[in-house]
Amino acid sequence: MLRVACASANPHKVAEIVDLMGGVVDLVPRPSDLADVVEDADSLEGNARLKAIAVCVATGLPALADDTGLEVDVLDGAPGVITARFAGEGATDAQNRQKMLAELDGKDATQRTARFRTVALLRFADGRELVAHGVCEGSIAMQEIGERGFGYDALFIPTDGDGRTFAQMTIEEKHELSHRGRAFRALAKLL
Ligand code: IMP
Repeated sequence: MLRVACASANPHKVAEIVDLMGGVVDLVPRPSDLADVVEDADSLEGNARLKAIAVCVATGLPALADDTGLEVDVLDGAPGVITARFAGEGATDAQNRQKMLAELDGKDATQRTARFRTVALLRFADGRELVAHGVCEGSIAMQEIGERGFGYDALFIPTDGDGRTFAQMTIEEKHELSHRGRAFRALAKLL
């Protein structure tokens, strides 16, 4: 199996990536002493590339990175590339969810349509890359529902589901529908 370094430092994401790719590549954790990468590209793919290059250079291994954005239609596609810092630099997941609920205050269910978009990128030491995309259509709930997951999971109701948020689903149910599940399954096919 191809040895690949995981470029994510977020333990929730790492757990999902191991679940999704553990049977396809031999995943090695990101070096713990590697400084955080400044994600200042203007696209999800650009940010995924910045993370992958940093880990590829540090380890000499191919590196697997992903970047995700939440696009809310009534906010003209925001927060998109700044999803992680929607409520400000260094914002917590809870602060980001609060900000989202505040921005959509007074909007009914028809005005809360949104999608998660993930770019998954595998970068090799010689500069070759495999890039795959995953999109999950859905809507933003009126309030937080569910205890599982991370990030905006308690607010996101996927259209192809049964009305529950990602935070109410088992990890297997989330993978089946999610942006990250779709992106990494597509990447696995490219491999
Ligand atoms: P990044 O891809 O790690 O940069 O994540 C961008 C932002 O999206 C962060 O605020 C994450 O918490 C959030 N996010 C990423 N993936 C998910 C997910 O699967 N569910 C909910 N929120 C997510």
